Amino acid sequence: MRWSGQSVGASSAALPGLELSEVAAVPGHLRTVRAPEFAGLVFHEVLAKSALNRVPGESSMPFSWTINPYRGCSHACVYCFARGSHRYLELDTGRDFDSQVVVKVNVAEVLGRELARPSWGGERVALGTNTDPYQRAEGRYRLMPGVIAALARARTPLSILTKGTLLRRDLPALVDAAERVPVDLAMSIAVADPQLQQSIEPGTPSTRARLATVAAARDAGFAPDVFLMPVLPGLTDSAAHLAPLLRDIRDAGARSVMYGPLHLRTHVKPWFFAWLEREHPELLPMYRTLYPGTASRAPQAYRAELAARIRPLIRRYGLEWTGRDRAERVAAGAGESQSSIAAVPGDPAPTLF
Ligand code: SF4
Repeated sequence: MRWSGQSVGASSAALPGLELSEVAAVPGHLRTVRAPEFAGLVFHEVLAKSALNRVPGESSMPFSWTINPYRGCSHACVYCFARGSHRYLELDTGRDFDSQVVVKVNVAEVLGRELARPSWGGERVALGTNTDPYQRAEGRYRLMPGVIAALARARTPLSILTKGTLLRRDLPALVDAAERVPVDLAMSIAVADPQLQQSIEPGTPSTRARLATVAAARDAGFAPDVFLMPVLPGLTDSAAHLAPLLRDIRDAGARSVMYGPLHLRTHVKPWFFAWLEREHPELLPMYRTLYPGTASRAPQAYRAELAARIRPLIRRYGLEWTGRDRAERVAAGAGESQSSIAAVPGDPAPTLF
């Protein structure tokens, strides 16, 4: 198992809340916890051996290192590319990914040691490229303040991409960090319709709450970006959907918008198509045409059509478009995992939302 080298101190000692049958496949776990305030979620606490994951040299992503304090994500986005990472834990890529979250409880401490090495070059580190660092578990474990502090101490630039409004809790710490190092913040916001958003991203804060978080980040002195991805064919790709969303993003004070159409990797397809069949069966023929067989990317003709529709809107609302190359890179990355930066020992490939 690829992940087995990541954890130490394996223990099968029974602790309150522990159900060994559910965690046998998670090597090196300390304990498994259920908490009343996190109904439906199971947290597998582990001690990680490493915190920094190197992005493969051939990757086109604009950063060299990532950190993932959690594996699995209670935000539970149906389209999430990171689902495949749970296969390495011998957990399933559907409900288990949403509800069984591995928590690297010592991530900040390990990170501090790694950053103190003379060999550390101070390259940019990205958080949120695979699973969301501000998912619900962060409310319990508070791993991010230690991570932010360690990076700032080591004069290491950082970027955070999230759907979590819990980011607001850490804005003061991020302001402090920004006095020492460049800090980039981005919020993933792609679905304006509240009903659709709750259906396809059932564990996430609302779009309104995320827009308010963008505004809070701007008020704290940041220039937040918005990732408007994935754009969902037939659901969120019309001008009628995109224009008011872009207006709201502009009004929230975002600096720029990056967009990308839905990518559907093989391991995500069954989960996504089951949702589609349940919620929007009328769209099944269209999606089967756009994503036939093992195809993960929407065809070029669709992407060109989307670009022709969305780019003028981005310009209309004065949102700096980050450019074709970067947008395509990110879209391609998102296609490879919702964290799309390829295989890193111990952690899944990074992807973007
Ligand atoms: S897309 Fe992002 S926020 Fe949604 S489940 Fe995946 S990692 Fe979590």
